[in-house]
Amino acid sequence: MAAVILDGKAAAAELRAELAERCAALAARGVIPCLAVILVGEDPASQIYVRNKKRACEQAGVRFIEILMPTDTEQAVLDQKILALNADPEVDGILVQSPLPEGLDERRVLALIDPKKDVDGFHVSNMGALATGGRGIVPGTPEGCMELIRRAGVTLDGKEAVVVGRSNLAGKPMALLLLQANATVTVCHSRTKNLAEHTRRADVLVVAIRQPKMITGGMVKPGAIVIDIGINRLENRKVVGDVDFDSAREVAGYLTPVPGGVGPMTIAMLLKHTIAAAEARA
Ligand code: NDP
Repeated sequence: MAAVILDGKAAAAELRAELAERCAALAARGVIPCLAVILVGEDPASQIYVRNKKRACEQAGVRFIEILMPTDTEQAVLDQKILALNADPEVDGILVQSPLPEGLDERRVLALIDPKKDVDGFHVSNMGALATGGRGIVPGTPEGCMELIRRAGVTLDGKEAVVVGRSNLAGKPMALLLLQANATVTVCHSRTKNLAEHTRRADVLVVAIRQPKMITGGMVKPGAIVIDIGINRLENRKVVGDVDFDSAREVAGYLTPVPGGVGPMTIAMLLKHTIAAAEARA
């Protein structure tokens, strides 16, 4: 039987409607949540991501400050901008769009953001809280994946979970969240031997590898829930995931599409974190 397709677009729309209500309640108290996004350079994919975030903020009632900086921006100038946003009491969330142009130090930039305004959840103190079971802001992409799994009604306790990819942005925090939910977690990466042997064991398979359609149906356990984080633009402009949707849907029990799966959830989580920060301020 073909997999149930997990509609991230619909789930995100529901979440965004709830968030718009929270935003309206804040506005009634005179507080407008505000997200500041810094985009350095002119990477076309980054420009699209920033545009999507801007649209989502505007629809939810979140003020959006877009700060565009040239490719040759000096580190000190970027640092100063972040410090100014940290100090601005009306800014609730700060996000620096990655990747940064060569020569700028992403790690340094992330460390400078006030952890309470780090709505992407990438600051070491937020990542540390996630790793140690503390309270912090959880990166939106894996958090969105967890929400899709929850909405599918799939329980994680004692399940075999395999995460393919170990980036700080996606794979690593995803593995930590699955572990928190009592799954038995294996993390695979580019040096993993016999990848398919791991993926075929997975009741829950999460893929974030930047490799178009690499995970095929033959690598999926029948009935598994498969969450595809990948977003890859092919030469013909088509956007595909890291999972081969057509073959995987014949084997999996549940599957996220690309586009329309994890991507919209990531943006909803970003709004959620910004609004929660504004609620804390209020
Ligand atoms: P990175 O390039 O930072 O990391 C890729 C990871 O995949 C690395 O850990 C790498 O291993 C691993 N990998 C690469 N090739 C293979 C392979 N052949 N077999 C096994 N593992 C492999 O990517 P990100 O985590 O930032 O992003 C992953 C994908 O998710 C991208 O397509 C990105 O566009 C998308 N994305 C989507 C988001 C959304 O909202 N839906 C948000 C963020 C990202 P190693 O560490 O050994 O190099």
